[in-house]
This record gives sequence, structure tokens and C-alpha cells, in this order.
Amino acid sequence: MFEVVIGLEVHVQLNTNTKLFCSCPTSFNHKQNTNTCPTCLALPGALPVLNKEVVHKSIMLGTALDATINKVSYFDRKSYFYPDSPTAYQITQLYTPIVEHGKLQIDFDDGSYKTIRVNRAHIEADAGKNIHDGDISKVDLNRAGTPLLEIVSEPDMRSAEDAILYLKKLHSIIRYLNIGDANMQEGSFRVDVNVSIRPKGDEKLYTRVEIKNINSFKFIQRAIELEVSRQVEAWEDGTYDEEICQETRLFDQVKQETRSMRGKEEAADYRYFPEPDLPKCVVTDEMMQIYTQIPELPDAKKERFVNEYGMNDYNAMVITSAVEMANFFEAMMEENGVSAKTATTWLTVELPARLKGAMNITNSPVDAKKLALLVKRIDDKTISGKAAKEVLDFLMENEDTDVDGVIKTLGLKQVTDTGAIEAMCDEIIAANPEKVEQYKGGKEKLFGFFVGQVMKASKGSANPQVVNEILKVKLD
Ligand code: ADP
Ligand code: MG
Ligand code: ZN
Repeated sequence: MFEVVIGLEVHVQLNTNTKLFCSCPTSFNHKQNTNTCPTCLALPGALPVLNKEVVHKSIMLGTALDATINKVSYFDRKSYFYPDSPTAYQITQLYTPIVEHGKLQIDFDDGSYKTIRVNRAHIEADAGKNIHDGDISKVDLNRAGTPLLEIVSEPDMRSAEDAILYLKKLHSIIRYLNIGDANMQEGSFRVDVNVSIRPKGDEKLYTRVEIKNINSFKFIQRAIELEVSRQVEAWEDGTYDEEICQETRLFDQVKQETRSMRGKEEAADYRYFPEPDLPKCVVTDEMMQIYTQIPELPDAKKERFVNEYGMNDYNAMVITSAVEMANFFEAMMEENGVSAKTATTWLTVELPARLKGAMNITNSPVDAKKLALLVKRIDDKTISGKAAKEVLDFLMENEDTDVDGVIKTLGLKQVTDTGAIEAMCDEIIAANPEKVEQYKGGKEKLFGFFVGQVMKASKGSANPQVVNEILKVKLD
């Protein structure tokens, strides 16, 4: 029996306005090589100056991870040559990073949880981009010098599931803090997965393989599964020592395999040394006071939703996992007379079912206010749940419409006026004397028939509960 051991490195691009060490803008959609200056082009004589916003955002993350924030941290040079890095080194933090010894809780469906230790989070500069165009390769340095925060976990995860839960939680925290947009497809949340196996009960760490640049949670899950089976098979075949070595592998989604990319460098290969062009990074007490103020995070919000709105754990988890969803819900609750229970269902089930294509909760044609009003109309029995679905369909297709107007236009207002419903019931009873006889004779199933007829007569607008009550009285 084997145990899986996983440690994750995540590179998060921080959403600052300017680059890490110069005042170039951080948007890359501009013409190639226009967001550059002597500093990020590494021209002789240009010196880096640390962006304070990066320090601020790093401290926010450190606070969220309940980590130690080092009041003094240092920058180091990691030397390597690659065409997209004009400096031929990367400025990073090896020896004393700004954030150390954090932790992150992952929650399982059965309500249990696990704490994953975070070794460190350090600041570093991103490289540019090589663009390969047929026989020609070009270099775009718009991204060179963009601030990254690399968050390195301890090897505390024991399955692909653990790893995905960790990544999703981290992703969610970054979005809550608004320190990065954490878009996996666009490369602003890049994950390196370190995987090894060991016989159960063994405490020591075995050889790890690093899988790089996998750009979706689904692929990460798959890459881990494939890599684990490769290692287990090698162990069982007695070829573990030859086949499993410390190396960097890539995940091939088409061939469904991980494949060797290059031998893994050791730290010594990079000839790290303290960065001579930058002073130490000092966090003052005043900065600590301001920068450690962070918004409510998913775990706390989840607990509050359970207590404040009587939500069950699962729904609270679903709603708080993405900050946009949580904000949407709270905006709904700001409307008077909206019940949390109905709001939860319509936010987690009915609305998502209607968000097609590029639509999402932030650009949904039905915003929180509108959905809240719809929920209110269900709660106050103006319309039935069934009718509300029709109203929502209509609202999704017709942006400039309002809930009450649509209810009126579609004629879906529910009849709760007992007098009107009573009259309809009398009519149906009078029109079906044989069925009434059969019902009274014990054929109780026929009750449904009467309800159906009354509903039909009202064109679906009668409140079914009221219809039931009145028919019961009249027939019995
Ligand atoms: P490098 O930059 O060389 O990849 P780091 O120290 O930055 O080294 O990251 C190492 C990562 O690998 C950490 O997330 C750590 O938890 C993980 N790790 C280390 N040893 C193992 C192992 N035997 N199995 C799985 N993960 C490991
Ligand atoms: Mg690594
Ligand atoms: Zn620049």
C-alpha cells in the first residue's frame, strides 16, 4: 500500500497597476515591447525600486494564511539565461521571504477538514514571453518585471482531491483579497505540482517529480492520477530506481501522460546570491497595521452564513466559495422581505442553470436586485415557483424589463383570493358528478384530478395550496 505525497507551488500574478521594480504598466494587451523601460529591459545603469503595492498585497495574503510576516526580508538573484529575461537572472526571495509558516484549511464534503502548512510566499519578478512564429522566434517584454507571489506548500497533501481543494481555497482567497485575478487560462494562477509516493507508514520523503504549467483544475487532477500510477507501477515492477528521478515533467492532455521535459535543477545550479541593487525590504509597524486589514474570508463568511441565515453547510460552502457569488447573495439579502432559503435556491440552482456561454454571475442580465424581487414575489405568494421560472426565463432574455411588469405581461399573478378559487372549485365539482361519486366511494386518487382541473381552469394562476385546502373541504 502506498501513500501519495504532494506539495504545490503556485505563482500568482499580483494585480498592481505598475510592475515590480519600475513604473511600467502591467497590462500586456498592448503592442509588443511598448510597456518597457530601461529597468525592465535591464539596460546598463538602470536600478530597480520596489513597488509598495506589492508589499501591501503580500502582507494581505500572509495575514489570510495566518502566517509570519517578516518585518525584514531580502531579495536574491537566481541566475539563468533564457531569451525572455533580459537580465539573465530573476530577482526573487530565497533566503528570507516576506511571508513564512502559514496554513490553509481544506474542507471535505462530510464536514471534516485538514490543515495544509504553507512553507512560504515570496515576491519575484516574472519573465517576458517568447513567441514562436514558424521559423522565427520573437520576444515580447511587456510582461517582464510583472510582480508574482510564489506560494509554496509543505508536502502535506495526500491525494489529488486534497490538492484540488487546496488550490480552490487558495484561488478563492486571492479573489476575496482582490490581490490578483487568478485566471488559470491566462496564466495569472500557475501551478507546479510536486508528486511522490511512499510505502504507507514510512515517514521519509521519496523522489519527487515536478509537473509544470497545467492550466485547469481538471487537468491537475488528471496529471496527478497519471503520475501516481506511473510511480506505483514502477515500484511494483522493481524499476522505481531507474525510472523515477527528480525531474520536471509536463502533462500532455492529448496523449494523457506525463512526460520528461528536463532534469530538475538543484538550487546550487542557479548560483543564488543576495541582490546587490536592492535594499532590504522593511515593513514598518504602521504598514503592518494598515496592510493586515483584510476583508472577511471564505471560511468566516461561510460560518456567518450558517449562523445568520440558517443555511446548511453545503449551501454556505457553495455560495461563499466564489466572492462574486457571496456578494450577489448579500446584495439580495439587502432587499427587504427576501427569505434566505428561497434566495439560496434561486441563486445556486435556477440562476446558474440559465447562465449560458460567456454569461456569469457578474454580467448576468438578472442582477441581485432583480433576483431578490423575484424571490420576494415567490415568498409573498404573488407567483408560484413554477411561474417564477417562466418569469426568470423572460428576464434573462429581455434585459430592460422588471419583475412585476413581466409577471403582469405574462399573466402569471397567482390567484390567492379564496372567493375566486372557491368559485372555480364549485364549477369543476358541478361539471364532474360521476368523478365526485367515485371519489366519495373511496377512489381517493381522483383528488389529483380535481386539483389539476382547477389549476387548468385558472390557467395555472391559482395558488395550488389554496386549491388543495378548498377542494378537501368541499369534497369531504
Ligand atoms: P523547487 O523550486 O526546486 O521546486 P521548492 O522548495 O520551491 O523547490 O518547492 C518544492 C515543493 O515540492 C514544495 O511544495 C514541497 O512541499 C514539495 N516537495 C518537496 N519534497 C517533496 C516530495 N518528496 N514529494 C512531494 N512533494 C515534495
Ligand atoms: Mg519547483
Ligand atoms: Zn519598466
